[in-house]
Amino acid sequence: MCIHIALTEGLTGLAVWDPDEVRIRVASDAPVRDVLRELRDILIIDLGAPTARCGQLRCFCGMRVELPEELLLRCPAAEAG
Ligand SMILES: [Zn+2]
Repeated sequence: MCIHIALTEGLTGLAVWDPDEVRIRVASDAPVRDVLRELRDILIIDLGAPTARCGQLRCFCGMRVELPEELLLRCPAAEAG
């Protein structure tokens, strides 16, 4: 089962790993740049995912982690790398 990302209102902190749901909840109102950095730390350091290339986030199985469209819309440069 692959990790997915869910935007959450009123989250304490930038991003929180939720092992029961295999998802990372990210604060919908946090700066996207900070959220992406926090996501990468959780994926690579906490979950042992392969190192991201060109800023692309990956699941621990190596599959690409899809970001919520709402998050990408706020940061188009994140997709381009
Ligand atoms: Zn996976």
